[in-house]
Amino acid sequence: MVFPGAAGEIRTLGTLLTYTRFPVVLVMTASILLRIVVLDSKNYYTKNLHKVKTQFAIHAIFRVPGTLAILPDIFYTDKKDPPGGAIMGKSIYRAVNTTLIYIERGGAYLMLHRTKKENDCNRDKWIGIGGKFEPGESPEECMLREAKEETGLTLTDYRYRGIVTFVSDEWEPEYMHLFTASGFEGALKTCDEGELAWIQKQDLLALPAWEGDKIFLRLLEKDGPFFSLKLRYAGEVLAEAKLNGRPLALGQREKLLVSACLLGAPCRYDGKSKADARVQALAEEYELIPVCPEELGGLPTPRTPSERLGERVVMADGRDVTENYRRGAEAALSLCLAHGCRAAVLKEKSPSCGCGQIYDGTFSRRLIPGDGVTAALLRSRGITVCGENGLDALKKGAKTAPNNH
Ligand code: SF4
Repeated sequence: MVFPGAAGEIRTLGTLLTYTRFPVVLVMTASILLRIVVLDSKNYYTKNLHKVKTQFAIHAIFRVPGTLAILPDIFYTDKKDPPGGAIMGKSIYRAVNTTLIYIERGGAYLMLHRTKKENDCNRDKWIGIGGKFEPGESPEECMLREAKEETGLTLTDYRYRGIVTFVSDEWEPEYMHLFTASGFEGALKTCDEGELAWIQKQDLLALPAWEGDKIFLRLLEKDGPFFSLKLRYAGEVLAEAKLNGRPLALGQREKLLVSACLLGAPCRYDGKSKADARVQALAEEYELIPVCPEELGGLPTPRTPSERLGERVVMADGRDVTENYRRGAEAALSLCLAHGCRAAVLKEKSPSCGCGQIYDGTFSRRLIPGDGVTAALLRSRGITVCGENGLDALKKGAKTAPNNH
């Protein structure tokens, strides 16, 4: 609550009452309290308690002959101080220092889905582990403490990978010290700030996250030297990015739905991946949205292999899994539409993802013309679908499906 002009009236009142020291002290005390409680709209004093102490110091009250001289001190405000303060009389720039750690296990990072804290600028986003420095901490000390506090894990092997400068029109500027850790001890605990989950690296880019996070996640995967990345946000929109001082082209990259196994996810029926370097390289040009329709349809990994048999899908042991394949296809289509993907690169010959050729349902490795369940559904909705050997179809940019039949 602010009463504009009240300070001037109190000054006048103070002046009238300063013929003796006792009333002056009373007025001064009341005024300071008033300033702190009522007039201090910017919380100047509550943020700078040492200034309050200075105002009350005996030597400050009686340091000059004549009590009138202390009145300016009562209403003293160091207007030259920028938010954040000053040192040695010179203005300085201050930013919050934080750490962010990606703890690795296999091909996954330990991620935090920030769902629990109110007024959290990361609310509902997936980020790594980390937090603000405590007084006197180095980046490593902060990183180790935050990892322990948030996950219960003690990190035994880590690397300092880079520093990210965040500038925003809404949030305080921040220097974020970025680490990866590949060694740890202890058991995972529940985190107060959200849900912890091991997420396969190739699946990270499809999760709700800050646009800039995806830039440094790619840098981490390239395993390059220590980097400095500057990210400037306007609201939640990434307005500018500079890597080692050089501007990065932002522009919205087109999104592409991709079979997760082609990107290296071990989601195939045998628990392995089918990583394809040509498909992975598409990440330079597109934003890749990984998907495994069979897992989305509720099938476990590993699982008994299946093949399409007419309109049905059957496992090698005869079980009918048509419904799982249908559900997985619909989930893949939803993901595709939600991300605005106009094309999909899907694993050839699969009963879900195959496009152009699939196995004939006899489990004899005989191929027949046809599409997997997901590929067929995407095609029917006008999505360009191609296999890992038909990437030229993407360049044509046609909405009509390339037909490998
Ligand atoms: S369903 Fe598609 S993404 Fe999943 S393992 Fe099979 S081919 Fe790969």
